[in-house]
Amino acid sequence: MKDVIIIGSGPAGLAAAIYARRAGLDMLVLEKNYASGGQVLTTYEVDNYPALPGINGFDLGMQMREHADRLGAEFKEAEVLSVMNEGTVKKVVTGEETLEARSVVLAMGASHAKLSVPGEEELAGMGVSYCATCDGAFFQNKDVVVIGGGDVAVEDAVFLARTSRKVWLVHRRDELRAAKSLQQKLFELPNVEVVWDSIVQKIEGGTQVEGVLLTNVKSGEEQRLPVQGVFVAVGILPNSGEICKEARQDEKGYYIAGEDCATSVPGIFAAGDVRTKRLRQIVTAVADGANAITGVQDYLVTLKM
Ligand code: NAP
Repeated sequence: MKDVIIIGSGPAGLAAAIYARRAGLDMLVLEKNYASGGQVLTTYEVDNYPALPGINGFDLGMQMREHADRLGAEFKEAEVLSVMNEGTVKKVVTGEETLEARSVVLAMGASHAKLSVPGEEELAGMGVSYCATCDGAFFQNKDVVVIGGGDVAVEDAVFLARTSRKVWLVHRRDELRAAKSLQQKLFELPNVEVVWDSIVQKIEGGTQVEGVLLTNVKSGEEQRLPVQGVFVAVGILPNSGEICKEARQDEKGYYIAGEDCATSVPGIFAAGDVRTKRLRQIVTAVADGANAITGVQDYLVTLKM
């Protein structure tokens, strides 16, 4: 039986792995994907991680993984189906086996939210994308639209503007949510145009995206943008699903936990984007990993009493 099983290998899971090894815990990280790093892997440039300005997201993810490897962290590729609380024993059920641990850190992160408009599902992979760094190369010298007004949408628009001919950024309000420094970069680009106060009615096309139909929420006017690519960046949803039903979640599915990362179930902790928190950033995810393992250590002491 492990002292702790960490589920997920994004920044929260990797920081937890580093802290767990430094605490001398018998630990295991279960990761769904073949590469560690989580959402960071597909971030072109990270400009707010202290001491590493402008680092490529893939490099940052790899460096975190190498750090954990150097400390002897154990990793296994497996999709976790459920976590069951049996008091002092937690059972982690994967597609292949049931593992046991004294404690669990839920660090499954979050995934892209969908727009839920006609054409989105039908044209996914045929011009509709949720990852600019993964798919941007298919749109060299083409016209694309990014939907959203947060950090990811603006980062995506800036990234795409390097190779695409024209980039529209469509936002439903008249003010972006993204960090001001990112906005400044965006507004300096000659081939980017922001369409304010507008929502997507539908994504049009036969076998490939041909355009998007927008409605201005203030005037009611419709506008059609002829684009070959649609990048959806309208936020994230927690990857909590049905994994740990016993730990209380909020209405969006985030595990309810404070800065100590303790969930409603003793011995089960939630770290990173999957827990309720104000600021979801790499820097707060790694802080969660550290706090969760501190909680794990305290919890393990109580088991011995
Ligand atoms: P976000 O900050 O939640 O922004 C989502 C954007 O999409 C908002 O502008 C929102 O509009 C818009 N939106 C939501 N639903 C929509 C809909 N149905 N139709 C049209 N627009 C819609 O999400 P994000 O940009 O994906 O970022 C996710 C988290 O990761 C954030 O906490 C962000 O700060 C963080 N992040 C961190 C870093 C970093 O640490 N370097 C980098 C990237 C992202 P409203 O503004 O009107 O709500």
